[in-house]
Amino acid sequence: MNLSESQMKEIADERDQQSLTRRNTVSELEDLMFSPIPVLDHGFIRVIDYMGSDSSVVQAARVSYGKGTRRVSDDRNLIKYLLRHSHTTPFEMAEIKLHVKLPLFVARQWIRHRTANVNEYSARYSILDNEFYLPDAAHLAAQSDVNRQGRGETLNEDETNEVLELLRRDANHAYSSYLSLLNQDELGNKLDLKKTGIARELARMNISLNFYTQWYWKVDMHNFMHFLRLRADSHAQYEIRAYADVMLSIFKAWAPWSYEAFLEYRLNSVNLSQTSVEVVRRLIAGEPVSFETSRLSRREWDELALTFNLKKD
Ligand SMILES: Cc1cc2nc3c(=O)[nH]c(=O)nc-3n(C[C@H](O)[C@H](O)[C@H](O)COP(=O)(O)OP(=O)(O)OC[C@H]3O[C@@H](n4cnc5c(N)ncnc54)[C@H](O)[C@@H]3O)c2cc1C
Repeated sequence: MNLSESQMKEIADERDQQSLTRRNTVSELEDLMFSPIPVLDHGFIRVIDYMGSDSSVVQAARVSYGKGTRRVSDDRNLIKYLLRHSHTTPFEMAEIKLHVKLPLFVARQWIRHRTANVNEYSARYSILDNEFYLPDAAHLAAQSDVNRQGRGETLNEDETNEVLELLRRDANHAYSSYLSLLNQDELGNKLDLKKTGIARELARMNISLNFYTQWYWKVDMHNFMHFLRLRADSHAQYEIRAYADVMLSIFKAWAPWSYEAFLEYRLNSVNLSQTSVEVVRRLIAGEPVSFETSRLSRREWDELALTFNLKKD
């Protein structure tokens, strides 16, 4: 993650400013405010602002006049109860705003979450930086044989080096063509005085998906949890999961009781189909159940076996 001196100064200046407020604040999140938390090789997440926390969830649920707080244990249990019973609107009363720097292919997955407000860096207005994502060797893997949307074995050293070289070469080539199309160097000086170059909104089209973009992303806690439920899950692509993992740590600082309830009733819980529940009941009753007698599909059986450490066949 590279930040220029002026960007670091802007962040330090922002962090130095303090204002009195009657609003409810969270010191753990205040500590994180504005500082970029690195993700992948050049990306980051910064907390820019937030409104409310656990207490606003409780306050909204009780429609109370003050902070909504009774006893700590009451509030904590109320939050658990709300999430367990999918009474989610109180969680919409708290919001968070993040500044995210992320590769374009991650942004394409992220933007599918429609229930947030987004403002993206404009490559029509500004020139893109020469920053592209190169995976760590540990994350360079072959296509999975069992999951069409996943990775399998990691590559050997020779193939890893070859792949990284190809990715680096193509991205550098794309960036150098991008500057040629603009007829500019990285500092904005004209390359050829006789040429006009093409507009930024056109020149960007040859940039590859591993280049970084940036946006401000604002979301309420309910939809923040929905995002994390899908993207911090082991089925999500590693690169977006890396962002979701950082967001989990932000969530913990922001609203520790909601975070705790989220782990319990969403992220680490499982949904069971009607037939899966029947299988579990039969197993508890001591009946031997195999894939053949389970009436589940192969994939569902394998997933159930994994969840409950069952013998696979
Ligand atoms: C592992 C994984 C694999 C995926 N693979 C693919 C893929 O192959 N192809 C692909 O196109 N996408 C894929 N997606 C994206 C996925 O289909 C969703 O678009 C994405 O996860 C956003 O989820 P969402 O719509 O629930 O979120 P949001 O857009 O934030 O919506 C939140 C909720 O609001 C409600 N909502 C929002 N908009 C509407 C609407 N217009 N109508 C009705 N209800 C609405 C729904 O209840 C929704 O769940 C994948 C996602 C994951 C996590």
